[in-house]
Amino acid sequence: MNFDVNQIRGLFPVLHQEVHGKPLIYFDNAATTQKPKQVLEALTSYYEKDNSNIHRGAHALADRATQYFENTRESVRKFINAKESAEIIFTKGTTESINLVAQTFGRKFIGKGDEIIISTMEHHSNIVPWQMLCEVTGAVLKIIPVHENGELDYQEFEKLLTSKTKLLSVVHASNALGTINPVKKMIDAAHAVGAKVLLDGAQSTSHLEIDVVGLDCDFMVFSAHKLYGPTGLGVLYGKREILEAMPPFLGGGEMIKEVTFEKTTYNDIPFKFEAGTPNIADVIAFDAAIEFIDSLDKKAIKEHEDELLSYANELTADIKGFQPIGTAKQKVSVLSFNINGMHPFDVGQMLDARGIAVRTGHHCTQPLMKRFGIEGTVRASFAVYNTKSEIEQMAEGIARIAKIKNK
Ligand code: PMP
Repeated sequence: MNFDVNQIRGLFPVLHQEVHGKPLIYFDNAATTQKPKQVLEALTSYYEKDNSNIHRGAHALADRATQYFENTRESVRKFINAKESAEIIFTKGTTESINLVAQTFGRKFIGKGDEIIISTMEHHSNIVPWQMLCEVTGAVLKIIPVHENGELDYQEFEKLLTSKTKLLSVVHASNALGTINPVKKMIDAAHAVGAKVLLDGAQSTSHLEIDVVGLDCDFMVFSAHKLYGPTGLGVLYGKREILEAMPPFLGGGEMIKEVTFEKTTYNDIPFKFEAGTPNIADVIAFDAAIEFIDSLDKKAIKEHEDELLSYANELTADIKGFQPIGTAKQKVSVLSFNINGMHPFDVGQMLDARGIAVRTGHHCTQPLMKRFGIEGTVRASFAVYNTKSEIEQMAEGIARIAKIKNK
């Protein structure tokens, strides 16, 4: 499909509604994206025609559901260019994927005095699991600082890397600022001291082409719901040899080879990490989301979203009292800002009254907000179905709101 924004909008039923009497403008895509018809239809079709438990059934429906489920695993493999589909593990989301790595890889391979590096711009889900791990192991958390423009301080990062570093866990693209981090360079530098690297791809996977082999990251985590797919589903990619060396996370059905009261042996990857009945319907529907993205081409998506972001920057630049937060050179389409003299929540409410949905607050990045000396921001984040006309309406709204306190 050619990149035709009107045609794309036609695939998203939720966009065609009014909010407070105004046409909905949905700019909260970094929180979660809307779902195209294909995804909604895949969900219904699964429950109408194929619903059954997978991997162990001896009947046609179970075979079909298993086939569809495993098809998605292969699509995810292709989507991020992993070597084999066994390296793709389904979880509940980015948060669970990171916790899985912390509780398995972390507990086995990171000990007292070892160091884990994260950055000031991490989402809480890439901070708290490591703090929990450090508490039980005596490992130490080191933090890469962030420059005023929202870029990582690369020189400081290099200084933090030592032979004690066991893991670098860093966000690929920031949800609060949009900054795209120089992850390839960081991965190579971390590997040079023998550390493993986890990339939080929650925000990058919907905007950038991902090649885990080219990047050479050891883990990559992301959530389907930020990729036009269903909620409650995430991915953990890990290199085979590392996943095999890790102990299981949850114990139960599916993740075993044989259970006796004396000893249980574990299944091969990926099943070793997928205990219990998985989120079958959402995994199957996620395939439709990946197909949707593939049909558009990631380069075209990025170009469209870059254009929206630069248009938003251009239209807001001269608004009195408008304060952009995070002006890195390389960004995904996130516009984070404050208006002088106003609380972000109030700005969000006033935009909502105009039908414009944005996020306000700390965006689960409290340490980053502290770094900038603010409580939170207003965040407008763009996706494939947003238009320049919507950006114009937002900019007009911001200008009017800013005038209240900035005459
Ligand atoms: N990391 C980043 C960068 C995110 O944007 C998010 C979601 N806001 C997460 C992690 C957590 O994702 P989830 O809530 O889907 O587990």
